[in-house]
Amino acid sequence: MALIVQKYGGSSVANPERIRRVAERVCRTRKTGHQVVVVVSALGDTTDELLGLAAQVSKSPPEREMDMLLATGEQVAAALLAMATQALGARALSFTGAQVGIITDRDHTKARIQDVSAQRIRQALAKGYVVIVTGFQGITPDHEITTLGRGGSDLTAVALAHALKAKTCEIYTDVEGVYTADPRVVPNARKLPALSYEEMLELASLGAQVMQARSMEMAKKYEVPLHVRSSFSRRTGTIISKEVKAMEEVVVSGVSLQKDEAKVTICDVPDRPGIAATIFTRISDANVNVDMIVQNVSRTGLTDVSFTVGRGDLKKVLRVARRVAGEVKAGRVVHDDGIAKISVVGLGMRSHSGIAAKMFQALAKESINIDMISTSEIKISCIIRKDQAARAVKVIHDVFGLDKLGIKPELVKTRK
Ligand code: ADP
Ligand code: ASP
Ligand code: MG
Repeated sequence: MALIVQKYGGSSVANPERIRRVAERVCRTRKTGHQVVVVVSALGDTTDELLGLAAQVSKSPPEREMDMLLATGEQVAAALLAMATQALGARALSFTGAQVGIITDRDHTKARIQDVSAQRIRQALAKGYVVIVTGFQGITPDHEITTLGRGGSDLTAVALAHALKAKTCEIYTDVEGVYTADPRVVPNARKLPALSYEEMLELASLGAQVMQARSMEMAKKYEVPLHVRSSFSRRTGTIISKEVKAMEEVVVSGVSLQKDEAKVTICDVPDRPGIAATIFTRISDANVNVDMIVQNVSRTGLTDVSFTVGRGDLKKVLRVARRVAGEVKAGRVVHDDGIAKISVVGLGMRSHSGIAAKMFQALAKESINIDMISTSEIKISCIIRKDQAARAVKVIHDVFGLDKLGIKPELVKTRK
């Protein structure tokens, strides 16, 4: 019997009525003769509310306790969904990530999955149960509860779909699939019938919240068949799979926006071999991920080095940057958190030129200044002012004609 993994996000289970509707959909899927494993997120904005509570009792809550707290949100959702499913006459059991053997490292609040035994899931499925698992969490080998980073229920779903060799992994959310841009920012954004793992990974890493970036790394690595769709309709959403020929013909598939980065500049850095190595070694030793780096040409033997980091790491990175600036005899350290990163992503960029020029022209026409640029084989990103970001997304979406984009879904292969 084929198995389907279904993941329901917070908005899909925001209240009892929606939980009942999810239970109905789960039962419908079960009746088609499939085994069903459901992964649930916490109800509505529960995770944000829990974070808010923590902030009210402590200035810097210990990460271990944060995980104890945050993991409860998904447990409430799983238990309620199991009750609602049973109330419809189906056999259902809820489990935590720990109970089903989702083993992670010890990196609290952003733990990585190391192993999935899924033993209890297999046993329960064999007995005819619908299995409901809390998303976003696991357990360390020494029995500490961990969480998998924001949006981590997507990762739970992908990991279980891979471990259980699911026929497909359906991601149910509050939009009808993956769009050419965030439909809340760009009203004429179009739903993409199909997308490659690579593109979704880039879009997610560059700010498209609809799939967690880490979950896409795993989906791409193990080629887990994904279907992102709405929990409020029965329409087909976006199929994410290995690239197929038709996808390459589309030059740009989507635009994404990241607003939670900050720029740090170390001024007057001596332009000598080994200095950049010293600076970025200190920063990486502090466990901070650096995104873009720009070093200006030096005329006087001194140069400014700028880089971007997640806003959450800003305080920490400023401390490190000031220390290392002293060490290498550089000048002052300044920062800017009024920036946003706008990116275009598409497989066809590999074989088409002029995409960057077109993007820069569109921004220039709107008098939007570009502060930093970075490119890879299938994306171009620019740092601009945050207050111009929404306008920038719209003009770039228009200049690449994304409101007219369409790919024939029947050309996409999915796993049998
Ligand atoms: P869930 O709670 O279901 O996990 P998320 O809030 O994590 O839902 O993700 C869905 C949201 O992602 C949408 O409401 C939408 O505003 C946002 N989003 C950003 N970029 C895109 C995109 N390119 N396509 C679809 N949704 C996007
Ligand atoms: N509830 C968690 C969050 O809000 C996990 C998830 O929704 O995927 O980040
Ligand atoms: Mg999400």
